[in-house]
Amino acid sequence: MKKFSPLTTRRQLLLSGAAVALLPSVRALAKSEQAAPPVASRPAEKSSRPAGGKKIVMLDPGHGGVDSGAVGQEGSEEKHIVLEIAHNVRQQLSQHHHIEVRLTRDSDHFIPLAERVEIAHQHGADLFMSIHADGFTSPTANGASVFALSNRGASSAMARYLSEKENAADKVGGVKVQSDNPYLQQVLFDLVQTDTIKNSLTLGSHILKQIRPVHHLHSQHTEQAAFAVLKSPSIPSVLVETSFITNPAEERLLGTTAFRQKIASAIADGIVSFFAEFDRRNQRPG
Ligand SMILES: [Zn+2]
Repeated sequence: MKKFSPLTTRRQLLLSGAAVALLPSVRALAKSEQAAPPVASRPAEKSSRPAGGKKIVMLDPGHGGVDSGAVGQEGSEEKHIVLEIAHNVRQQLSQHHHIEVRLTRDSDHFIPLAERVEIAHQHGADLFMSIHADGFTSPTANGASVFALSNRGASSAMARYLSEKENAADKVGGVKVQSDNPYLQQVLFDLVQTDTIKNSLTLGSHILKQIRPVHHLHSQHTEQAAFAVLKSPSIPSVLVETSFITNPAEERLLGTTAFRQKIASAIADGIVSFFAEFDRRNQRPG
């Protein structure tokens, strides 16, 4: 089986046109990563929580630094576009005083996947959302999708493909993932995680409902796959693929402020309505 050097980027794969042929080895690579849990997370440090019972939203612009993410035909880099969209979401949510937004990265630098989860825990986040605009081998792939974690396997071939690519981000950044951490192995499969995944799927449906009127959906339902960045045992987490940067029409759209704001508004509205449902469900008489 062909081996990848750590510096092999998905862009190089796509450019070589060999991505499809190499998929089995990419899969094997990602599989070994999936088995590797994130670095041990410390208990949430509540000290950084704001007063007044505000909800903390941790937005995670994908990629950054040495990892540019997917690159469109016109040369647009995913890492820049998703940071812009995250800024737009933060701006939209600033109108809601019961919500406070924090970002895993606010500039162009690389963060390992497990550290993104760790940052969310350190801030005591109530919700985690990774924002992307990925690529596919076919330039015709288009539309937005939302993903939640799966412990059992990917819900579709696209879900598997994208999770493998996202999980390979750490390879680009040269991160060595530790494996065989029994504590997290156990945590990943415990009931808390199952409940968190249920909440993540609810969050996903709120986001999809808001995106549906403004942009084509690649998949009508929240898909599931083993995304390393979604492996928080306790924080509802989703990954939003806003569009395919490898689709020339969508690359053009992603390059416009109007489209980025439209998607950001939909994401922000989805977050607000998720919290509203969550609060309604948790309200108890007396
Ligand atoms: Zn991405």
